[in-house]
Amino acid sequence: MTQYFGQYLIRQSEIFFTSELSFALVNLKPVLPGHVLVCPKRVVPRFKDLTKDEITDLWVSAQKISSIIETHFKGDSLTYAIQDGKSAGQTVEHVHIHIIPRRPKDFEENDQIYTEIEKADRKPRTYEEMAAEAAELRPYFSN
Ligand code: AMP
Repeated sequence: MTQYFGQYLIRQSEIFFTSELSFALVNLKPVLPGHVLVCPKRVVPRFKDLTKDEITDLWVSAQKISSIIETHFKGDSLTYAIQDGKSAGQTVEHVHIHIIPRRPKDFEENDQIYTEIEKADRKPRTYEEMAAEAAELRPYFSN
């Protein structure tokens, strides 16, 4: 099945989770280790575009994924973020929840995470690195 993230065609090797209406992929430019994205399968730009079923599926998926990535990446907390619209910092026009495992003092100022989410100047990872991370996470969700 072909899956787009906004305008980007995503390889199956970057996806580690799928549900009926949502999928999750590893990040090209993670802010911290374990920074992943959960999206509705339907490519729509804004949160207001989602149906009730899509919202439920998206957040239930986010809860399942976050508990796994918190443990896997040895965090003790999580940041969830949605940049909903251009003025809010959204760069990919496809609804996505950022989920980021957090550790004590991972940033000097805790809220610096929001400045970092905003920045696009991090070095992109290679497809091999991304596929390797997705392959590590996928087994947690196969049942
Ligand atoms: P936002 O600025 O809230 O729209 O977030 C976009 C997110 O998508 C950032 O965390 C980017 O690193 C990430 N991103 C952009 N392009 C890709 C891609 N092709 N595959 C995976 N993640 C991507």
